[in-house]
Amino acid sequence: MADVNTTANRRHQVVVIGSGFGGLFGTKALRRADVDVTMIAKTTHHLFQPLLYQVATGILSEGEIAPATREVLSGQDNATVLLGEVTDIDLDARTVTHHVLGRRTVTSYDSLLVAAGAGQSYFGNDHFAEFAPGMKSIDDALELRGRIFGAFELAEVMAGKGDDVDHLLTFVVVGAGPTGVEMAGQIAELSRKTLRKDFRHINSRDARVILVDAASQVLPPFGATLGEKSKKALEDLGVEVQLGAMVTDVDERGLEVQDKSGQKRRIESVTKIWAAGVQASSIGATLAEQSGASLDRAGRIGVNPDLTLPGYPEVFVVGDMIALNNLPGVAQVAIQGAKYAAKEIKGRLTDQPAQKPFKYFDKGSMATISRFDAVALIGKVKLSGFIAWLMWLGVHLIYLTGFKNQFTALIHWAVTFLSNDRSQRTATEQQIFARMALKRLPKGATELVSEPGSFGSDQRRAELEAQALEEARLTDAGVRGRAAS
Ligand SMILES: Cc1cc2nc3c(=O)[nH]c(=O)nc-3n(C[C@H](O)[C@H](O)[C@H](O)COP(=O)(O)OP(=O)(O)OC[C@H]3O[C@@H](n4cnc5c(N)ncnc54)[C@H](O)[C@@H]3O)c2cc1C
Repeated sequence: MADVNTTANRRHQVVVIGSGFGGLFGTKALRRADVDVTMIAKTTHHLFQPLLYQVATGILSEGEIAPATREVLSGQDNATVLLGEVTDIDLDARTVTHHVLGRRTVTSYDSLLVAAGAGQSYFGNDHFAEFAPGMKSIDDALELRGRIFGAFELAEVMAGKGDDVDHLLTFVVVGAGPTGVEMAGQIAELSRKTLRKDFRHINSRDARVILVDAASQVLPPFGATLGEKSKKALEDLGVEVQLGAMVTDVDERGLEVQDKSGQKRRIESVTKIWAAGVQASSIGATLAEQSGASLDRAGRIGVNPDLTLPGYPEVFVVGDMIALNNLPGVAQVAIQGAKYAAKEIKGRLTDQPAQKPFKYFDKGSMATISRFDAVALIGKVKLSGFIAWLMWLGVHLIYLTGFKNQFTALIHWAVTFLSNDRSQRTATEQQIFARMALKRLPKGATELVSEPGSFGSDQRRAELEAQALEEARLTDAGVRGRAAS
């Protein structure tokens, strides 16, 4: 066991869990504080989740929405970035345990900021995930990109042989919230415009794009008027909107849907996208177990009005993980919460009085439907169409991290919005299948690397030497590469 950060003879140690909106903005807000910050996250990037659907549909590259956290924080001398998945927190010992590829590290803290976010929820049907990936990470978006473009490729091959390809050209998006609406709109645009001249045996415009939701309206948080406008705009694009329809089963070749009447029906579709439901990080359960704090059905933890964990004033929890005053799971809740927590940590070090309870300032919500068309709800003001789309463009450009990314995103948007082309259509077999392949390994990627300390050992060395000898023999025999002369 190796402690990387012990508190002895050190400045006040702040550990931040997560490099998302809460983690990154919390760390940045501590840049001038007399503290050392260690950010631990299971990815090496900060992810701008609102634009994941654009990576999945070939508009933006993954780097544009997910800059390296280390690079973003390179100018912040008091911040250290560590890659690792947090597996345990000991609230009494004030330590965080994290792992990367089987390597375990324990880091001590004086103050802790937990911003581990939320993952996809399949409402107790986790087996749906195999055939209906969610959209929460770069891996998810790249897998979906591969699946979407791959379905057209397979359809072209099969149609060339005279086979039925309807199931390959049917795309089902589950969940009519902002992510589902944006995804369905983009697949429709892709098939109707971007790909329309690219195939010889299929007509990409024949693709069916179906948006399914158990609710009775599209975009419920935006209210009935904007919901109805969005539905109509999607239908004009060619999306079939099926409301009051609950998904009851998913398999490789399609899904089963139950309508309000109780009638079940099947949709044949190889490409399904799950954009319904969230489940907070399991770190919430770890904290709840030790502190006695409540957990709601989505796994969100009940925190005090100052975002601290009950009984542990040195622990702050922010963003998608918390259940407080019905705050929505949006980026601004995480950003404002993390800044509030950072201010409190700084204030305590300089004997400032405690702040008033955390108050969220709602800056509004937006969703795009297609190019030049979006909806926005700002306070009581409801906007739709081109004006809302321009606002969407401006806000997303401002919030994308880093000038470099803003600049290249603008170029890629220009390509897509002005010409209907897409700059990021690369998709590989590994993108589509690696997730499931890794799932089949009991310990995931950890199984593919040597155990800590074993690489230098005689046994491991003997294994590697034997492998190398075998490879050399195969090469010499002409089985691999060029035979030795
Ligand atoms: C597809 C999509 C579209 C969205 N669109 C919008 C939008 O348009 N507008 C809006 O306001 N909000 C949107 N949201 C919601 C918004 O992205 C979230 O509310 C926001 O990211 C929450 O911030 P967070 O810091 O709580 O969590 P996140 O940003 O999710 O960050 C969580 C961090 O914790 C890390 N982590 C998780 N578990 C561990 C662990 N065990 N160990 C170490 N690290 C861990 C993750 O790697 C990540 O770095 C969208 C979300 C999605 C998925």
